[in-house]
Amino acid sequence: MEEKNIVYQNNKIIPESIFEEAKTALSFYPELKDVEIEFRYKEDIKKSFMQAQPRFSNLFKGKKNRSYFIYISSRFLIEEEEFSMAEVPSEVLIGWLGHELGHIMDYREKSAMGLVIFGLRYVTSENYIKEAERAADTYAVHSGMGDYILATKDFILNHSHLSDHYKERISRLYLSPEEILVLVNKLEEDLENVEKDGR
Ligand SMILES: [Zn+2]
Repeated sequence: MEEKNIVYQNNKIIPESIFEEAKTALSFYPELKDVEIEFRYKEDIKKSFMQAQPRFSNLFKGKKNRSYFIYISSRFLIEEEEFSMAEVPSEVLIGWLGHELGHIMDYREKSAMGLVIFGLRYVTSENYIKEAERAADTYAVHSGMGDYILATKDFILNHSHLSDHYKERISRLYLSPEEILVLVNKLEEDLENVEKDGR
């Protein structure tokens, strides 16, 4: 997507279309004022809508000199329904960005080797994913973003046609927006398979 970027706080690069939302989310994290973060659209993010990660080229230059990316997909799927960025309400977007900034808070505490190991575990261990997602949400909630985080989760749940029974189960669990999205899409797949087998 060709779009103008805005430089904010001298060290944040933010696409114009999400500037206001990013600015609001950042206002909850004064600790990140001196941290370089680039928000960037990316075409295909695996099974997700956003993704925070350290910039590899300066990963080993010490905790203070690290910088980070928050990748954002211009669209995402909830069950078979595709949403474009423009359809996502502001508060949902703020909540989602706040969750990603929570990941960066968590990454800041880790050593470079710790982050490499983290990256490897994240892709191989479900428990590790849960732990990392919980840490990100916890940072966001402690920073005062609880209502935004809930708005993000509600958005996903209200746009899926799963039974109330499933929705209730999902919303009772303490899960991040990504985890809920993965679960919703997986449950949908499972339901389809059950229907096929029953035929
Ligand atoms: Zn996450």
